[in-house]
Amino acid sequence: MINSKLPHVSTTIFTVMSDLAREHGAINLSQGFPSFSTDDHLKSLIKNAITNDHNQYAPMQGLLSIRVSLSNLIHNCYGAIYRPDDEICITAGATQAIFTAIQAIVHPGDEVIYFTPAYDCYEPAIQLAGGIPVPISMDVQNFAIDWDLVKQTISNKTVAIIINTPHNPSGTVMSKEDMLCLQKLVVDHGLICISDEVYEHIVFDDNKHMSAASFEGLKERSFIIGSFGKTYHITGWKTGYCVASKVLMKEFLKVHQYLVFCVNHPIQVALAEYLKTPKHYLELGAFYQRKRDLFLSLLKDSMFKFSPAQGSYFQLLDYSSITNEHDVSFAKRLTIENKIASIPISVFMSNDNTKKLRFCFAKKDDELIQAANILKAL
Ligand code: PMP
Ligand code: GLN
Repeated sequence: MINSKLPHVSTTIFTVMSDLAREHGAINLSQGFPSFSTDDHLKSLIKNAITNDHNQYAPMQGLLSIRVSLSNLIHNCYGAIYRPDDEICITAGATQAIFTAIQAIVHPGDEVIYFTPAYDCYEPAIQLAGGIPVPISMDVQNFAIDWDLVKQTISNKTVAIIINTPHNPSGTVMSKEDMLCLQKLVVDHGLICISDEVYEHIVFDDNKHMSAASFEGLKERSFIIGSFGKTYHITGWKTGYCVASKVLMKEFLKVHQYLVFCVNHPIQVALAEYLKTPKHYLELGAFYQRKRDLFLSLLKDSMFKFSPAQGSYFQLLDYSSITNEHDVSFAKRLTIENKIASIPISVFMSNDNTKKLRFCFAKKDDELIQAANILKAL
């Protein structure tokens, strides 16, 4: 009866594992969201915004005040200038921004390169635009990108490359050298970059987030996408943004205005104010690094092997010393029998034999301690 546009798509692994965790009363380190409370000050800002009647449609592109705050934030972090009036759009989360950017530039038959394991919304968004997804596997040991292979893969149908740094699910970050290789390919081949930077403020140790905004050639040709959900512990508010050069943003807005028109008004009023305090994003890396270290210190003598995450709030654990089981069945068994839920990473790639599970450490300390104790006992 219905000719499905996405015949191979089923319910996302995040929903599957969170539902399973709920059903079996498991600690949920699967879906990436904080289990702790949002800052009371931010909560009061949104209450005030509602009380003060910011309850009707916001401007299509987002409130000017939040675009100004975001423009300043990006300038402080990356030294890049994005004009609030025609280079910034506030979106209903990063997912909508990614979908919108793809719809804006991909024509039927166009190829879009991205790297696997990849966040799950890229491929269907490309397909719904009539484009051809072209996944390139990263090395599954260190999640490095082979830029020679990328160069060989670019064809006369390639229009865009999607990157994601800090990376979900591996927790790695792209280096300056990676960005320079990317920039050369994008500029030489006249491509567009869609840079998913939702974990931009969550980087650890001596690592530094390399934003496409910091590279002149890339900045010209990139949609850079962020999520306030990750930075301010408000994933449920589904608010994010896209910044891009004026020519790219013009096309982005043509799609945005018919997809959502505008996004939640009181949230934008609250965030416009909250973004003015750099402490909130400057301290985020240290905040999550302490959680990563707590979790990993407890797993030091466990059977799991790991390299500490460089960024994001995800830690991969290699369980090959414990079992040969497929990661999906091991993740489900751990949830049902051991009461700890994680994400099997094979669902984000074609290689289904990685023996790695992804654990989200954006959780309360006592949950992390309890979870690590369960894992240590395996
Ligand atoms: N990109 C990546 C890499 C993500 O991990 C996520 C989800 N957390 C998103 C995009 C979507 O973010 P949002 O919830 O703001 O839509
Ligand atoms: N980005 C979150 C994760 O990687 C989940 C978002 C979602 O559930 N779609 O876990």
